[in-house]
Amino acid sequence: MSKKYVYLFSEGNANMRELLGGKGANLAEMTNIGLPVPQGFTITTEACTQYYEDGQKINDGIQAEIMEYITKLEGITDKKFGDLENPLLVSVRSGARASMPGMMDTILNLGLNEDVVDVLAKKSGNPRWAWDCYRRFIQMYSDVVMEVGKKYFEQLIDQMKEARGVTQDVELTADDLKELAGQFKAEYKSKIGQDFPTDPKEQLMGAIKAVFRSWDNPRANVYRRDNDIPYSWGTAVNVQSMAFGNMGDDCGTGVAFTRNPATGEKKLFGEFLTNAQGEDVVAGIRTPMPISEMSEKFPEAFAQFEKVCKILEDHYHDMQDMEFTVENGKLYMLQTRNGKRTPAAALKIACDLVDEGMIDEKQAVAMIDPRTLDTLLHPQFDGEVLKKTPVIGSALAASPGAACGKVVFSAEDAKAWAERGEKVVLVRLETSPEDIEGMKAAQGILTVRGGMTSHAAVVARGMGKCCVSGCGAIKMDEENKQFELSGKTFHEGDWLSIDGSTGKIYDGAIPTVDASIGGEFGRVMGWADQYRRLKVRTNADTPHDAAQARKFGAEGIGLCRTEHMFFDADRIPAIRRMICSDTVEQREAALAVLEPMQQSDFEGIYEAMEGLPVTIRFLDPPLHEFVPTEEADIELLAKDMGKSVAEIKAIIAGLHEFNPMMGHRGCRLAVTYPEIAAMQTRAVIKAALNVQAKHPEWTMVPEIMIPLVGEVKELAYVKKVVVETADAIIKEAGSNMKYLVGTMIEIPRAALTADEIAKQADFFSFGTNDLTQMTFGFSRDDAGKFLDAYYDKKIYENDPFAKLDQTGVGKLVDMACKMGRATNPELHLGVCGEHGGDPSSVEFFHRTGLDYVSCSPFRVPIARLAAAQAAIKDAQ
Ligand code: PEP
Ligand code: MG
Repeated sequence: MSKKYVYLFSEGNANMRELLGGKGANLAEMTNIGLPVPQGFTITTEACTQYYEDGQKINDGIQAEIMEYITKLEGITDKKFGDLENPLLVSVRSGARASMPGMMDTILNLGLNEDVVDVLAKKSGNPRWAWDCYRRFIQMYSDVVMEVGKKYFEQLIDQMKEARGVTQDVELTADDLKELAGQFKAEYKSKIGQDFPTDPKEQLMGAIKAVFRSWDNPRANVYRRDNDIPYSWGTAVNVQSMAFGNMGDDCGTGVAFTRNPATGEKKLFGEFLTNAQGEDVVAGIRTPMPISEMSEKFPEAFAQFEKVCKILEDHYHDMQDMEFTVENGKLYMLQTRNGKRTPAAALKIACDLVDEGMIDEKQAVAMIDPRTLDTLLHPQFDGEVLKKTPVIGSALAASPGAACGKVVFSAEDAKAWAERGEKVVLVRLETSPEDIEGMKAAQGILTVRGGMTSHAAVVARGMGKCCVSGCGAIKMDEENKQFELSGKTFHEGDWLSIDGSTGKIYDGAIPTVDASIGGEFGRVMGWADQYRRLKVRTNADTPHDAAQARKFGAEGIGLCRTEHMFFDADRIPAIRRMICSDTVEQREAALAVLEPMQQSDFEGIYEAMEGLPVTIRFLDPPLHEFVPTEEADIELLAKDMGKSVAEIKAIIAGLHEFNPMMGHRGCRLAVTYPEIAAMQTRAVIKAALNVQAKHPEWTMVPEIMIPLVGEVKELAYVKKVVVETADAIIKEAGSNMKYLVGTMIEIPRAALTADEIAKQADFFSFGTNDLTQMTFGFSRDDAGKFLDAYYDKKIYENDPFAKLDQTGVGKLVDMACKMGRATNPELHLGVCGEHGGDPSSVEFFHRTGLDYVSCSPFRVPIARLAAAQAAIKDAQ
């Protein structure tokens, strides 16, 4: 049998979402449970896919099937498409699996033409209504199917109202509307060059095509990328016989939520408009009345609607968002779906539903979108001011939260301005480790270059600081402390607001409001913790970040990047001396200055983590990142080392690399300068011994992690240095403290030879930032420049640095886990790349059998929830 592309509402049900889309499946379900739904049919998502496969055509077979269902619908409604006796009018609406603003929404009153509208006017005795329907249809069809801008029609309506001396659409008479319809058609012809279609079948196919086409419009593509919706899903189309809310004063239309979508309060929330059709409520042309007033105007329909609300909530076990129409006092349901809600409302509704016995705790955990938790933990813009402020640019939403401050262009300025009490936004071409102090001092960071794992993005997320990255539209002039965006030049000190949750940039100051976490947050997280198998650790480099992460429920540190500690003003001279040393002795002397500082850093972190596991990664970045660039600093270093400026410059030049990310970094540093690894080992072990002595109740087992290993022998070499150093110190202290030595798996060769590497490693931690970079072969700092072209061409649907590429990079992870465990069954497995805080990636890591994920402190709650959802899904 050939594939079925069309289903009557009575043939579907709520479980057929994939095929019928959300709207179609719910219309079918409402039909099945006996609610008053104007009947119709759904054209499946597979028909959409077929449309694209056929070169954006609805093939003859599918067209014939659609017309067959029109005939069926004619039978059900006892009306006929295009008939002059009893015409059938329909609405055409898009409906993907997940509700998607950004796609085509609705066309109403399809099936009308000059002849049919005359019949309708005469037979109903309500010519105003008939002509109102027709002018609306022409307007919507022109706008959404033929893409003639709405504004031309709105101008004509405004002119007509002015000519008639009225202010409201409803005050226009039948004759006015008839005249308008004529003007609309003329407008259509002048824009399109053809007459407005009169054949209902042609109208219908045009509308269906427009829905399919809207699946691929730029807004829909962006929405899909932001919301993890695959392009391959396609959208369904719903064709439904019309119920009319615009027939007179005993008619109307409304939208309502069963609970308040902003706060979660259990109270009907919505709006209703008399003598109107659906789009009037949304368009805001007339002010609708609150839903509660509907009870006075339409007591019977309202009572029935309240009943329907209860039935739907009981049926779906969730807050519903509904559209309905009242035609001559009778209620018709046009749509229901689980309503979108604010993160705070989501938590309250989940808890309330549990308390009301509607769902269990597992269902409550499963119904919260982990990505939305972020916004609960960071400051947000004042919504009212935000609405009035124009967006002047947008880029990557690299680290959530809202920030407003005066523009500064350097880390030093950020620090200096903040010290004198100014709020600043740091705007940089890109950031580097030297900028950390400035980033800390700023309210937020905006960069011109860099992707989701660029330095700015990673560090800002770690700090819980707002960051918008990769805004290529900015014309930067750092030298003159100014930049240009959206036609305006911003100078140092100008106010700027950025939203790291949306990536939007605003001109001027928008006040922010602090985050507030209610009791429901803790309740839901407590439930989540019962179900998850994955442990959740954090990436933290300072006691402050570690303590923050503990508050969010981190169960250890999965990555402490030691290099971040080297940039403090009191340390950088010693690290520079170390780099510019000629002999091992000189280098060791410089390292000896750093050692106590590192040790006390580690002690602070151990204290903050209260005995939980802490993985400390040894020095990773290329050394040139630490050397001075300013003339004055170079002179200072020369003096400090008793060398000439020229000599220092020669050393710095010698450190230059064409491809630093693939250069002298990671364990290669320890292979060349084992004394660095020895110093870091001493600092780690001594810190652990001290903390252990202070807290006998904790069992300290330090974890030392060697980065960027690609060959087992290089790991074995560095490990030997670590073990010899550590064992000597532990022995000298008379302790029997255990410690672990493991490695990051972040080079494809490490994954490919994981069986060998596992023989030398107590644990693997997947560095999926580098692993993605090296597997794809493109730079994590520069990919942002060309990824947009890849999205446009559907080569990639997501940023692989934000959401793990499960097919390629994931295969390496999975393989390395299996091979590693085969030769070392005790091997402990985790991930510390940015993907450790991304929900869909966390689900993958759960399935792959990792022991933990590690992510920045503010993402810990997201990871906890995502891990629980993965476990719940797995068990089903
Ligand atoms: C990684 O590569 O995934 C990682 C965590 O290390 P970094 O981001 O510091 O290179
Ligand atoms: Mg790395």
